[in-house]
Amino acid sequence: MKRTFLVLVLLALPALAARKPGAPLKPGLLNAFSKQQDVQMGQEAAAQVRQQQAILNNAFLKAYIDKVGLRIAETKEAKASGFPFSFEVVADPTINAFALPGGPMFIQTGLLAAVDNEAQLAGVIGHELSHVILRHGTHQASKATGLQMIAGLAGAAAGQGSIMGQLAAAGIGLGANSVLMKFSRDAETEADALGSHLMAESGYDPKEMARFFAKLSADGGARGPQFFSDHPNPENREQAIDLEVNTLPARTYGYQSGDFARMKTEVAKLPKVAPKPAAGAAPANTTAAPVTPDTNVSTTLKTATGQGFSISYPDNWQAYGENTVGLTVAPKNGVLSGGAVGLGVILNLTPNQPGKTANLTTDTAALLTQLKNDNPNMKVKANSVRTTVGTRAALQTVLTSNSPYGGEEQDTLLTVATSKGLISIVFVAPQNQAAAMQTNFARMVRSIKLPQ
Ligand SMILES: [Zn+2]
Repeated sequence: MKRTFLVLVLLALPALAARKPGAPLKPGLLNAFSKQQDVQMGQEAAAQVRQQQAILNNAFLKAYIDKVGLRIAETKEAKASGFPFSFEVVADPTINAFALPGGPMFIQTGLLAAVDNEAQLAGVIGHELSHVILRHGTHQASKATGLQMIAGLAGAAAGQGSIMGQLAAAGIGLGANSVLMKFSRDAETEADALGSHLMAESGYDPKEMARFFAKLSADGGARGPQFFSDHPNPENREQAIDLEVNTLPARTYGYQSGDFARMKTEVAKLPKVAPKPAAGAAPANTTAAPVTPDTNVSTTLKTATGQGFSISYPDNWQAYGENTVGLTVAPKNGVLSGGAVGLGVILNLTPNQPGKTANLTTDTAALLTQLKNDNPNMKVKANSVRTTVGTRAALQTVLTSNSPYGGEEQDTLLTVATSKGLISIVFVAPQNQAAAMQTNFARMVRSIKLPQ
């Protein structure tokens, strides 16, 4: 079950038609983070990367990527973003580069060795900076985390804590497949388009970006598997970039810093090092083994409080989003990397619109519609029936959807209309655990306290 209740309103906006070449490129509307939080998150994440990756200490190469990178960062659209871009070289023969939210960019020496000309390097930098400018990382993190994080994140932005720490608590790290750095094909197409603008303005031929990606994707992507794992290759990439560039004012290309040949010589002289396993730094608790939830349920309970509601849960489980309108309780590995809940309970308050009161029947129907939009595989297994939570009238609806562990999951949704708004409580379990969890879930239902 994806936890995206707050953002459902935005998700319900009509899907945008495919973008025409030359049309404006703007960050997605759905973003739970402020631009300052992008910057804070990027700086925290960059500090982790510097601890876990070998930052190259080579004054010439650092000055060289600064020269090319800052030329791209000084373009009109990059400057207008206000993000503080920075560039570092990682001693790693993998052909890759990545940018973190808010501006820090890391370029592997393998990429420097692979580019045929400076425009190709500028193309990768322009593409990565475009992901930053268009805020693709935090847009995706917003889709993955939903409401639970937001109050906590606002506190983090005010200097009360670490955003990466908050994300890590929800199972989102910087490792391979992190939502912060693994982009959708649509995001790739946008980053190509904006990247081509940045290149053109800097005097680099934008077609070299497409040529470099085509070179990496030749032989089934054998040369750039890491890059394409994080940046899926859109179809007709070269043609799309051509169409985009045709909408820009005519310019002459062919800018050269003059240092490309020396860069190649310096890179060739570097001592050989073994490739790192992943593009970003892996959080300490990440393992490659398939994740399974801890189904060992303690019968000793402790209590977590949201905004006006509380639930008691097994004391070997963990609570996320306490004191906010969204609260999740889950066992170890109940919340997966990416933020999906595979085993646990998600409680949410959807506050009433000003001047409106919650209506159990219509608000539950609206919520079900929104959940179906957000979880395309979701099905209603049993229609809503009347029940109670404590003394309060409630509706219970049994749903099924795809489990993040594989196979099917059962989601039992309870909704209650309160003076503060509709409260929804989703009990999530893989289908093969649903029966075993019944006693535990029933105990938790009895413990729920709600506002009037
Ligand atoms: Zn990309």
